Amino acid sequence: MLFLTHLLFGILIALVARGFISGGNYWFFFGLVLLGSVLSDVDNRNSKITKYLGLPGKIVSFFSKHRGFFHSMLFVVLLTVVLKLFLGDYYAWGLFLGLVGHLFMDSMSKNGINLFYPFLDVEIKGWVRVGNWQEMMIRVLLVGLIVWTVVW
Ligand SMILES: [Zn+2]
Repeated sequence: MLFLTHLLFGILIALVARGFISGGNYWFFFGLVLLGSVLSDVDNRNSKITKYLGLPGKIVSFFSKHRGFFHSMLFVVLLTVVLKLFLGDYYAWGLFLGLVGHLFMDSMSKNGINLFYPFLDVEIKGWVRVGNWQEMMIRVLLVGLIVWTVVW
């Protein structure tokens, strides 16, 4: 899925999570959910997040396979544990939810993800073609849910 779609899903997750998880500064938590929701695409040289990260992003994308390690549960678990050690449970939850949200969205795309990389080679994929009308419909749905969450 594309950057904006992931970002919209991240916003929705952060808004919904507000009612369930607390324990620190909500806006920092919100930022971490958004970061998590776009970070995995650093394995793609042409992604927005790679461009935003500048040289470090270029180096990482050069050495990684798209939809390999950065789109695996291993990456999610490692990063969440690191964040838990440094910032505690609340903020680790934020990043975790964003990362899982990213994998969930990509698992609906035709390209799919390899969730258990590098341990198992099982491709999980759906029916959505990235960037076409199906993804645009998902965006419309997400915007609707975001508005509903805010108003409700
Ligand atoms: Zn992705």
